[in-house]
Amino acid sequence: MLEIENLTAGYGGVPVLRDINVKLGAGEIVGLLGANNAGKTTLINSLSGTVKPISGRILFQGEDITAMPPRRRVERGIVQVPEGRLVFPDMSIRENLLLGGINSRARPHRRRLMDKVLELFPRLGERLSQNAGSLSGGEQQMLAIGRGLMAEARVLMLDEPSLGLSPLFVQYIFEIIDRLHAEGLTILLVEQNLNLTLRHAQRCYVLERGHVAVEGVSDAVRDDPRTKSAYLGL
Ligand code: ATP
Repeated sequence: MLEIENLTAGYGGVPVLRDINVKLGAGEIVGLLGANNAGKTTLINSLSGTVKPISGRILFQGEDITAMPPRRRVERGIVQVPEGRLVFPDMSIRENLLLGGINSRARPHRRRLMDKVLELFPRLGERLSQNAGSLSGGEQQMLAIGRGLMAEARVLMLDEPSLGLSPLFVQYIFEIIDRLHAEGLTILLVEQNLNLTLRHAQRCYVLERGHVAVEGVSDAVRDDPRTKSAYLGL
């Protein structure tokens, strides 16, 4: 569904990612693991189009989207839920959600999408006119995922959804991820939490200082000694 071919990307012409090859099949949960600064967010940003590649290609459903602007990628259904949630704190939950559904493909279906999000996250439904800034971290993560779903995502890219959440909220968010997967959504799960990701993803890539150090089905990645050394920077 989504293919990254020989991608080199970075900032100001200085590469952070080098010669990356990553594939997401339709309906898969793929984990992208790695220590701090390994380049995980840079990879997600390359997919959403906010980081421009130095070389390489990105294909979505067979179409070369390497030069496509971010807004059009969202219209195609490539949707990022950013690290740290980045909800709009002074806007209501309803407004945050409606903003997620502003692209031309999702807009006509906003009512159906909103019903679906509120069914997934009833807590948001109880607080629709409350400012997003008043929500707890876990509730803000629900809102950020809900906002992504409002865009009628086909590929949902979650950047560190467990970051800073209590264990109960982490469990809840991962139940939601599993449910979205069961409904057929393709998910790229970017995480520092190794065990959690290996449990929920079918396949994983481990990034180490900007290159793919390990890849494969989750059980094989778990057993590969290079996974641990990539994490510990050995
Ligand atoms: P973390 O888990 O800490 O979020 P990460 O694996 O997502 O890390 P990135 O955020 O992609 O890693 O960062 C990879 C490298 O790129 C780091 O060395 C970082 O300093 C650098 N970097 C990230 N964003 C920028 C930027 N906007 N300008 C310049 N360098 C950047």
